[in-house]
Amino acid sequence: MESTNIKLKDNFDRVHDYLRISLTEKCNLRCFYCMPEEGIPLRENSAYMNKQELLAIANTFIGLGINKIRLTGGEPLVRKDAHEIITELGKLPVELAITTNGILVDNFIETFKQANLRSINVSLDTLQKNKFSDITKRNYFEKVISNIDLLLKNNFHVKINAVLVRDVNDNEIIDFIEYTRNKNIHYRFIEFMPFGGNKWDWSKGYSHDEILRTIENIYANKVIKLKDKKNDTSKNYKIEGFEGTFAIISSITNPFCDTCNRIRLTADGKIKNCLFSNNETDILTSYRIGQDIKPLIFDAIKNKKQKRGGMETFEDISNPDFNNKNRSMISIGG
Ligand code: SAM
Ligand code: SF4
Repeated sequence: MESTNIKLKDNFDRVHDYLRISLTEKCNLRCFYCMPEEGIPLRENSAYMNKQELLAIANTFIGLGINKIRLTGGEPLVRKDAHEIITELGKLPVELAITTNGILVDNFIETFKQANLRSINVSLDTLQKNKFSDITKRNYFEKVISNIDLLLKNNFHVKINAVLVRDVNDNEIIDFIEYTRNKNIHYRFIEFMPFGGNKWDWSKGYSHDEILRTIENIYANKVIKLKDKKNDTSKNYKIEGFEGTFAIISSITNPFCDTCNRIRLTADGKIKNCLFSNNETDILTSYRIGQDIKPLIFDAIKNKKQKRGGMETFEDISNPDFNNKNRSMISIGG
């Protein structure tokens, strides 16, 4: 791999050093906010990056200044060669992380350790078993809870993601906070975002301000604001005396585009320079015919819009003519 001082800078001087790679569009859950009700058309295997292609493309990105890779999906751990991919990526000079629904985590503890993958985000939108089945259409609640405990026991750095949806799980905010009382967990509340096929409308959303007000109503002056890191997409807090912390990710009401350092690579080998962008750059096809993919990567970054893929205002992002053109979240890789 080439070692380089090259930086992937866009027209707004933002340096991109964090790549999120989707390993697959498949999933063992069916979360309503992510997977369209009718499912997504699965294509033949050749439409997706195989292991060798994925590793080679990841390597090229690292040569262009990427220093952190997060694996996502779909559910990254359902991919048959996930162990091998994680092991191989672990040998590269890059910080490795993963976002998973947690169901298969117990099969991967040793692989994570060997790859020096210490930071794991697990999605858990409810602490109630029946509601878990309603949200995900599957019955894996106990498995996810026990795997979170297993990760903690093995000293992984665990963040939990919950997409907050009005009248679904907004009444559990305090339960989530209580979950951090005696556990070294970072609970992150994510504002509900629009993607292809997820029937979004903001009346179902629960905003940063509402979340914080709900928490402050109970814990009053025990809510402590923590310092956010430079490229953090979240506002970080903790409750005085609690072991864990919490955060709010406000992509709708207060996006964090100014300091964005992220690029996405979909499972079918397309660059998305922004989660909300409809423009994609196909690097897999070019790679397969032996072209140099570096100029494509530079161009993709240069073309990045200043804010939310060009949806500058709340009116833009609320407009189905704009927000419904994107892929579904399951095929982007969150
Ligand atoms: N399957 C893995 C998981 O669930 O963690 C990784 C992929 S999932 C697409 C990545 C993250 O995107 C999850 O934390 C999920 O909650 C979040 N997500 C999916 N759809 C979303 C939406 N409409 N709004 C906000 N976050 C969403
Ligand atoms: Fe699967 Fe994750 Fe999407 Fe849920 S959020 S359907 S677990 S990819």
